[in-house]
Amino acid sequence: MTRRSRVRGAMHTRLGLLTLCAVMLMACGSPAQPNGNARLTVVTSTTVLADLARHVATEDVTVTSVVPYDTDPHVYEPTPADARLMADADVIIANGANLEPWFAALTRQVNGTVVFILETGTWPLLYETDGAPDPHLWMVPRFAADYVTVIADTLAQADAPYAATYRARATAKRDLLLALDTELAVLFATVAPARRILVTSHDAFRYFGQHYGFQVASLYGVSTETQPSARQVQSLIDLLRASQIPTIFVETTVDQSVLIRIARDANVRIGTPLYGDALGPPGSVADSYSAMMRHNAEAIVDGLTR
Ligand SMILES: [Zn+2]
Repeated sequence: MTRRSRVRGAMHTRLGLLTLCAVMLMACGSPAQPNGNARLTVVTSTTVLADLARHVATEDVTVTSVVPYDTDPHVYEPTPADARLMADADVIIANGANLEPWFAALTRQVNGTVVFILETGTWPLLYETDGAPDPHLWMVPRFAADYVTVIADTLAQADAPYAATYRARATAKRDLLLALDTELAVLFATVAPARRILVTSHDAFRYFGQHYGFQVASLYGVSTETQPSARQVQSLIDLLRASQIPTIFVETTVDQSVLIRIARDANVRIGTPLYGDALGPPGSVADSYSAMMRHNAEAIVDGLTR
């Protein structure tokens, strides 16, 4: 073999390796793929669930939300990258009760453990007049603490050697959430009973209202999948004129235009936007579940005590 042919042969081999790498990367390495070094990969439907799961998981567990920050889970349209993310996950956690109606279809082709939190055990669900369940149970910290228990049980089953660690971390987080519940109740005690009417974009706050003593009303109902009717708009305006509350609240994940028009017609203020179905990005006022709940509480107290 001449020197030139040996060099060419080596180049062919190197090119072959490069081509093989490129094919393998295309086949199994997408930007959405979780860290390959993680001991366990967890995918959640929403950023709220991801935050709760991160408090249960250890640092070498990756937790990724399918629905991004500031994005409505009711009407989210999943991408092929989301499907790949879920196909590679060890554990997949969703809220259930129709919060994310598109999610079940994504779980059909996965190998990991799939849990819809509100389909485990018994939960004190509220229902709409048409029988649809209200999925927003995490809006009460006491129930978020129960979510944490389900998440810990799920991780403990999927990763048995670390079961005790997950359960211990969950117990610590539950204690913080129960303390948060008390903290919020103390804040809300400053709102006069006649002012305890919480009007928001959609019904993310029914459990919250029931728990903290607020009457709630919204424009969209429990889901944002259908636009509000003229009758819904008028009944909200009538409520505002009759109740004389000073402030109503838009939400970060829902179109605000109709509620802003209603506020103008009924001569009420629009308060600081509330978070419910999605956290804000890192560094924002609502970059964790606890930060979101404190932000909402301060916004509600400020808006209703004017
Ligand atoms: Zn919602």
